Amino acid sequence: MLPLIKTSIPPRNILMPRLEEVLYSGYVAQGEIVEEFERKFEDFIGGGNTLSLNSGTAALHIALILAGVQEGDEVISTAMTAEPTNVAIKMVGAKIRWADIDYETGNISAAAIQNVINEKTKAIIVVDYAGTGVDVKGIQEISQQYNIPVIEDAAHALGTTYNGKKAGTHFPFTVFSFQAIKHLTTIDGGALQIQDKQLYEKGKLIRWFGLDKKLSRLDNDIHFQGYKYHMNNVNAAIGLVQLETIDELLQKYRLIGKYLDLHLSDLFGVETVKHYPNTESSYWLYTLKVDRRDDFVKMMTENGFMASEIHKRNDLHSYLNDHPAKMPNLDRFYSRLVHIPCGWWVTVEDCEKMIQLIKKGW
Ligand SMILES: *Cc1c(COP(=O)(O)O)cnc(C)c1O
Repeated sequence: MLPLIKTSIPPRNILMPRLEEVLYSGYVAQGEIVEEFERKFEDFIGGGNTLSLNSGTAALHIALILAGVQEGDEVISTAMTAEPTNVAIKMVGAKIRWADIDYETGNISAAAIQNVINEKTKAIIVVDYAGTGVDVKGIQEISQQYNIPVIEDAAHALGTTYNGKKAGTHFPFTVFSFQAIKHLTTIDGGALQIQDKQLYEKGKLIRWFGLDKKLSRLDNDIHFQGYKYHMNNVNAAIGLVQLETIDELLQKYRLIGKYLDLHLSDLFGVETVKHYPNTESSYWLYTLKVDRRDDFVKMMTENGFMASEIHKRNDLHSYLNDHPAKMPNLDRFYSRLVHIPCGWWVTVEDCEKMIQLIKKGW
């Protein structure tokens, strides 16, 4: 069965010497290799400061703290995402306020955000679902108009661009995940891309118990809550090797994604995702909207192609549904949503087979 997701690990002869070097170096904690990974990741993104972490969830948590979100505040978010996006909001004691999506893209709608802003709103989280770029322009305008910071959850969107600039350069905070199934895996890991240098320095303290690594323990004075969220040299060493070929890897996702866009967009019975102007997707997942989804999934899987909606809309989790909301676009999107294989392990021949199967109907 052709899977929906597949981990890309560098060849043994390239990865193993680098991994062994760090494992037996006598220093596996957070050190120079982590530093090197951060600076190389900054180069790759092309703007902002990289705070490497042990997960994308940690990045969301720190972003919310740096954005000043506190207990009793509200954060506007989307239900069309993986759970970490919204579980993190609860970690700071805030309440989730849902905004509906744009049916065509699956991403949070700028107009819907504006409709639910109130005096308790302290931050807005936007998610590039499946890698589809968010409405950067519309969201930036609202953020400026109401002076509310935006956190972009780009866990699916490494290399997604708007006006040729990568996710990580558009908003004060951008979250990346290097978890097992993401484009770039360090096995587990994450990063927060922070535009403001001072907030970046504060983020470093939050990452490490509130302690300043530049000072000796005795000269340190913890004066706010910190966590143990750092990346270590072993994960960073894997990340550095991954970064060396990330452009080629992302290109493969994009090639297959665009091929499917081209050949599926006019077919009867399926709708492809539309993209906001001047955005380019990372195609972490390939999204279709289909009639009679269960029959579609059965037809695809019987023919050797995995197909699934993968995510559960987050307002169906009772703990996350702080403010139940009517979201007609999400209702329609979610009832028709299905993902089909797209990525470095998918060939053009695989695409042709899928296209023929879909043409035949289900
Ligand atoms: C994977 C993921 C995260 C966080 O990932 P970690 O597993 O904590 O690294 C956050 N948001 C979304 C949308 C994700 O898919």
